[in-house]
Amino acid sequence: MTVNLLEHDLESLAAFCERLGEKRFRAVQLFRWIHQRGCSRFEDMSDLAKSLREKLKGVAHVKAMDVITQHISADGTIKWLFDVGGGNAVETVFIPEDDRGTLCLSTQAGCAMGCRFCSTGHQGFSRNLTTGEIIAQLWFAEHFLRKHLKRDERVISNTVMMGMGEPLQNYTALIPALRMMLDDHGYGLSRRRVTVSTSGLVKKIDLLGVECPVALAVSLHAPNNALRDYLVPLNIKHPLEELMPACVNYLEHAPRDFITFEYCMLDAVNDSDAHAQELVQLVKHYGHSVSWCKFNLIPFNPFPASGLHRSKQERIQGFAKILSEAGITTTIRKTRGDDIDAACGQLAGDVVDRTRVTVRIARQRSSELNSNPLDVPTDAKI
Ligand code: SAH
Ligand code: SF4
Repeated sequence: MTVNLLEHDLESLAAFCERLGEKRFRAVQLFRWIHQRGCSRFEDMSDLAKSLREKLKGVAHVKAMDVITQHISADGTIKWLFDVGGGNAVETVFIPEDDRGTLCLSTQAGCAMGCRFCSTGHQGFSRNLTTGEIIAQLWFAEHFLRKHLKRDERVISNTVMMGMGEPLQNYTALIPALRMMLDDHGYGLSRRRVTVSTSGLVKKIDLLGVECPVALAVSLHAPNNALRDYLVPLNIKHPLEELMPACVNYLEHAPRDFITFEYCMLDAVNDSDAHAQELVQLVKHYGHSVSWCKFNLIPFNPFPASGLHRSKQERIQGFAKILSEAGITTTIRKTRGDDIDAACGQLAGDVVDRTRVTVRIARQRSSELNSNPLDVPTDAKI
């Protein structure tokens, strides 16, 4: 078994090279070949000594997970389903906008948090992704897109850990992956453009602030404990009295001067004027002013068996108006990639059933894909 070098951030790649009797700067060269140039073949890494290339061939490889499907939406959004083995698959979504390209990454296969309105939550937890499986989504997408869009420069300018899974529950694997995103020898993204989204693991929020501060989004969804206990069961363990101070404290380390609260708009559940007013009070209670946070209202994306409905557009606007008039910056998330089920919370909606079929197809296809991992058949439908 050879080692997949995507598992190593620069520090651990340097240690790996040292074990091979190589100097640290070799690790920098190798890291740049892999992450900046998308190179997976040691023989193509022309400024590495031939002896090192030979050595590497014997002990290491560079490979992303197999792509099961790739769907391109009419609006340019691209969704990939990756095979992570054992009948599990995870999804990654690229969202192009005028001034940026955002990649939404998964951090776990499934999720143990069981939020009511989330299809990943309904699916249950399978396993944590490794560091290599997290970064492979960016590695693959960035270099695929450069080729696909015929661009030499960087395509992905922002990453958000808002795909499948609770990133902070996979903290140990997440941190090196974040470091690779930030590393100037890797993807060179600024801390402000890397966002971790969490349902509220407070101790890990504290730790993230100290160890690897990046932009933070917190999935709030309710203005009080009773409703939040129901929608986000983690709240029973870490209620608002713990979560809100953790968010305020995070600002001491955060690269931005605000926290983003995500709020999924559920018809007749959490979307009344009274809920909005209660949110304003909540925000005021924990901050000196209201400017320490922003709200991002996400129209609920329905999936079978949720038993929930999306708030009407006028209701969402009425809710946003109350927050805005209280001075809280509030945006309503545009739904992207609707036609390919790439919107928030729709990820792997029916993955358990789909995975059986898709993994079979992936196996048939893997020989083609693996011969050139960046050459994926476009819009493969299952
Ligand atoms: N587990 C993390 C990150 C992944 S979910 C978290 O919960 O923050 C990313 C965002 O999508 C979260 O804000 C989540 O609440 C939201 N979301 C989940 N299911 C949704 C759905 N069906 N419709 C709209 N938003 C949803
Ligand atoms: Fe997990 Fe986030 Fe979905 Fe909750 S919303 S179940 S934390 S992925």
